[in-house]
Amino acid sequence: MIEDVIVDCPSCGEAMALSVDTTAGAEQSYVQDCPVCCRPMEVYVQCRPGTVLSVSVSAE
Ligand SMILES: [Zn+2]
Repeated sequence: MIEDVIVDCPSCGEAMALSVDTTAGAEQSYVQDCPVCCRPMEVYVQCRPGTVLSVSVSAE
């Protein structure tokens, strides 16, 4: 199950949508490049299938 969440880029502040696979694990972290400023950010997601519980991003 894919859920979209909105986060703000820690580098440039632009909002963007992340697609989270909520069945891929209760805790997920990965690095994603901002589509606006192209800087990498670390994304940390807590979820359960069908629901995103929390998401946080930090600059790499
Ligand atoms: Zn950015």
